[in-house]
Amino acid sequence: MNVFIMTDLEGVSGIDSMEKIQPEGADFDWCRHRMMCDVNAAIEGAVRGGARNIYTVEGHYNAFCPEELDPRATLVSLREWEDVIRSGEVDVYMEVGAHAMAGTEKAFLDHTFSSLRWYNYIVNGKKLGEVETNALFVGAFGIPVVMVSGDAAVCREARTFLGNIETAVVKTATERNRAVCLPPAEAVSAIRNAAEKAMSVKNKPFQMPFPLSLRLELYRSDYCDEVTKRLSGKVERVDARCVERMLDSIESYGEITFLE
Ligand SMILES: [Zn+2]
Repeated sequence: MNVFIMTDLEGVSGIDSMEKIQPEGADFDWCRHRMMCDVNAAIEGAVRGGARNIYTVEGHYNAFCPEELDPRATLVSLREWEDVIRSGEVDVYMEVGAHAMAGTEKAFLDHTFSSLRWYNYIVNGKKLGEVETNALFVGAFGIPVVMVSGDAAVCREARTFLGNIETAVVKTATERNRAVCLPPAEAVSAIRNAAEKAMSVKNKPFQMPFPLSLRLELYRSDYCDEVTKRLSGKVERVDARCVERMLDSIESYGEITFLE
């Protein structure tokens, strides 16, 4: 079994305030290290569960420390990851450090792709977050999600949408920008155990009926102007703050995230 591990920073263990993850802040290097602890715990668990090849990618800008990555995993770049997913080489997908979708109560740093610009992302009438959007992309290539780690809110969200998966809750938000965390050793052991068990999870790929209607509601009309202009011919303006795009198939990640 070959495993793909997506990573993000907000749901990493030990990170309990918004201030800590500011790239210019004093705690950022520590956050990057914590991220690698979580990723390596997932790798260890996957190996114990029988994984053969493991691929991982940095899903949060500039937070990965490649020199700390467990060498049993292959780090792929953001440009290559889609090819790895399309290659037919990946059997199961995991996500480490995840966060809940924009607009979730008691969710640590909830957002969907852009906390500044994106208000709601709605596919076939359902609001989705990043975890589900990623699941939809890998699901188009027959790959199921089997494990998610992050705060309690994203784990709940992932189970609601994705069905029979393993989750590792490493913290609970007390308000959007604050969380109470498990001690680091407990957190990594929860991730390791979840990843190991996840290797025997039987889950279906997450798919939604085509044609897909993708609606993006932004906070301001000028953000919407920008998307409408950039994707002219591909999206339709619904109103001042909303664009819609229809898809008969999923070929690329950019298509479903309005980031082409
Ligand atoms: Zn994210």
